[in-house]
Amino acid sequence: MLEELEKSLGYHYKDLNLLKHALTHSSCSVKINENYERLEFLGDRVLGLAVAAMLCKIFPREPEGSLAQRHTALVCKDTVAEVARRLHLDKYLFVGNEEIRSNENVLCDVGEALIASIFKDGGFDAAFAFVSRNWSDLIDKNTTPPKDAKTSLQEVAHIRGWGVPVYKVVRREGSEHEPVFYISVQVGGREEVGSGRSKKLAEQNAAGKVLDTLGEKYVKSSCL
Ligand code: MN
Repeated sequence: MLEELEKSLGYHYKDLNLLKHALTHSSCSVKINENYERLEFLGDRVLGLAVAAMLCKIFPREPEGSLAQRHTALVCKDTVAEVARRLHLDKYLFVGNEEIRSNENVLCDVGEALIASIFKDGGFDAAFAFVSRNWSDLIDKNTTPPKDAKTSLQEVAHIRGWGVPVYKVVRREGSEHEPVFYISVQVGGREEVGSGRSKKLAEQNAAGKVLDTLGEKYVKSSCL
């Protein structure tokens, strides 16, 4: 079973227990050296370093700010979860409860843990090679770095001659301490409503919804 996964990962473990460790959720084992939480902590850093090194190599003339924007999008929860899903890690997870398999946060965490398991087993070169194989198609060489949804929508609206997007607070729910804002955005004859814990977040989510309908790229607010 794990040997089959090894093949699709393109990495052969000296110690296959490390792979099992990386795939074990805390609902399956609460033991600190059996579940993936410590590996996730390490893998997050290994991934960050590997992606930073790749970006510096691929974009030799870009300023730090643009590299940082690209980096944010590439190590973001949604991106790591996407890579994990492509590798079918959900299928191989050791969980105490089946619902956990489809959890987006878990998928991201297990992706990070997997990178750490390769790092511990084969060193940084092996981990770097793995990240290279799985992230290179996500690094867009030809376009400008992805931007947050509000900035991106403003640019898209400008290019399409739609003027400036208009944001309005529709309503506010929740308690004083945990408010939820609903904000609408109108632009180019379209209107979407986004929600969030702050006005800023609700605006980002509203802008994101418009960009989704247009098929435009942006950095999700959960990554910011
Ligand atoms: Mn994580």
